[in-house]
Amino acid sequence: MDVYVDKPKCTGCQHCFDVCPVAVFQMKGRDDADVNSDNAPDSMKWKGTTDAAVKKKWEGVNDGHKHFAEANDGSSGGISVGVNGSACILCQACLIECEGECIHITDDTGAKYVSIYK
Ligand code: SF4
Ligand code: SF4
Repeated sequence: MDVYVDKPKCTGCQHCFDVCPVAVFQMKGRDDADVNSDNAPDSMKWKGTTDAAVKKKWEGVNDGHKHFAEANDGSSGGISVGVNGSACILCQACLIECEGECIHITDDTGAKYVSIYK
């Protein structure tokens, strides 16, 4: 299984990190050197610019999670990286919890899954 995050769409809500039973995700600061260390294609790498539509949808939402904060404080903020995709069991928990609809999973047959917010 390969798991990566479309970084410009990641709000930093940390839902993926919280729900994944096998620790596929790590939250990184947006300035961290390894923020692009999963297999996201170039168009989905973090280059300092947030997707405008995602920002408009989530920047004013007060649901107890930080949105678009530079760094993770242990509860939310920063950006998610799929650091351990080989452990994914395709439980799909992250796929319905992802605010930015930005998690991409490819299984071992090549089938692709993209998160859609519940
Ligand atoms: S689908 Fe994979 S990456 Fe997502 S929560 Fe389940 S095990 Fe973790
Ligand atoms: S659930 Fe989606 S938007 Fe939230 S931190 Fe994870 S990848 Fe980013």
